[in-house]
Amino acid sequence: MSAPRFWREINQRYNLVGTECGNCGKKYFPIRSVCPECHRESIGKMKKVKFSGNGKVFSYTVIHVGSSMFQMQTPYIMAIIELDEGPRITGQIIDCETKDVKIGMPVESVFRKIGEDGKSGTIYYGYKFRLMK
Ligand SMILES: [Zn+2]
Repeated sequence: MSAPRFWREINQRYNLVGTECGNCGKKYFPIRSVCPECHRESIGKMKKVKFSGNGKVFSYTVIHVGSSMFQMQTPYIMAIIELDEGPRITGQIIDCETKDVKIGMPVESVFRKIGEDGKSGTIYYGYKFRLMK
């Protein structure tokens, strides 16, 4: 995969924008062009929605091996967050100790640097999650 395409996809993934089916009202993340439940009924009725970024921890994993592209300090926590609007999305939980995270805890999204493209020097920002106090 070429770098620009990689970053374009990351950009989409890291913005909290998904789609809502105009037929049944279900919300999806990432963006879908057709509702998996309504199929043909939803064609042309899918609209973009921005999510609040609030949700709760559905499950999580502690990652001990870092990725050079994301320059994350290890260990770090990757979680599946169930958004208030329904969809589940993957994101990093920051600003806490790994032992502080529990399933079901409420989280909010925060906007942070997620990585950079070494060739162009571009820095990319996106969402991460933080435990609500
Ligand atoms: Zn639908």
